[in-house]
Amino acid sequence: MVSLKEQILLAIYEEFEKWAKEEKTVCSKGCTACCTQNVTMTAVEGDLIHRHIRENDQMEWFAGKLQEKGNTRRPEMTTNGFAAACLQGEDVESGSSGNESVCPFLENKSCSIYAVRPFSCRCFVSEETCKPGVAAVIPESYLSASTAVMQIVEHLGQGEYWGNMLDVLLALSDLPENRRYNQFLPASLPDQGRANLVKALPLPGFLLLEEEMKKIEPLIQGIFTHPIGEKSIEEILNNR
Ligand code: SF4
Ligand code: SF4
Repeated sequence: MVSLKEQILLAIYEEFEKWAKEEKTVCSKGCTACCTQNVTMTAVEGDLIHRHIRENDQMEWFAGKLQEKGNTRRPEMTTNGFAAACLQGEDVESGSSGNESVCPFLENKSCSIYAVRPFSCRCFVSEETCKPGVAAVIPESYLSASTAVMQIVEHLGQGEYWGNMLDVLLALSDLPENRRYNQFLPASLPDQGRANLVKALPLPGFLLLEEEMKKIEPLIQGIFTHPIGEKSIEEILNNR
């Protein structure tokens, strides 16, 4: 059964997709320069991916993919950690672009876990066709919106693993529900994944100017008021 956190995550994905559909970008299926090993995510996003793999009986294939990991980027500061530091007036850098190796889940120019890809993949777009090593041109309001949603997703997973997608997936691969990976993954790999991760943090506030907040308010409201059972996401996140 899909957990409450996964239900909230799916609702956040849905609200973002609704909001973002009007954006004019050049992204299309088969355009894959953005599919690198730089993707970061939370444990709840990893749980959703592992559930999908178990339900589709793809664990052996997936274990092979996890072992294709290159010299992965390991960000030290989460999005909410960065936001908290900025809001306290600290002078911080957002980190390097990291490892440009191809994501192991890219097969035949498309994402083999598309239905459950993490938010970092869902929000990555460009107004101009990207080339390897050249930054995407992300519309300004879109960047504000995706950063804010990334902060909400991290808040949802607070206290749990946060970091590179491949490390998070490895770290979760020895949970009881994932025990079938024992046959396919070296026993040391989950610990290696965990060693590279930090903990997700609560939302300290958004890094948005008043103007930016006005533009993306419908999205934020859509997420917070989205019903899950008899409560809204905001009520659940605030334990009301
Ligand atoms: S972000 Fe760049 S590489 Fe990715 S689909 Fe869009 S244009 Fe292509
Ligand atoms: S998970 Fe899918 S969308 Fe994300 S980088 Fe990998 S192949 Fe691309």
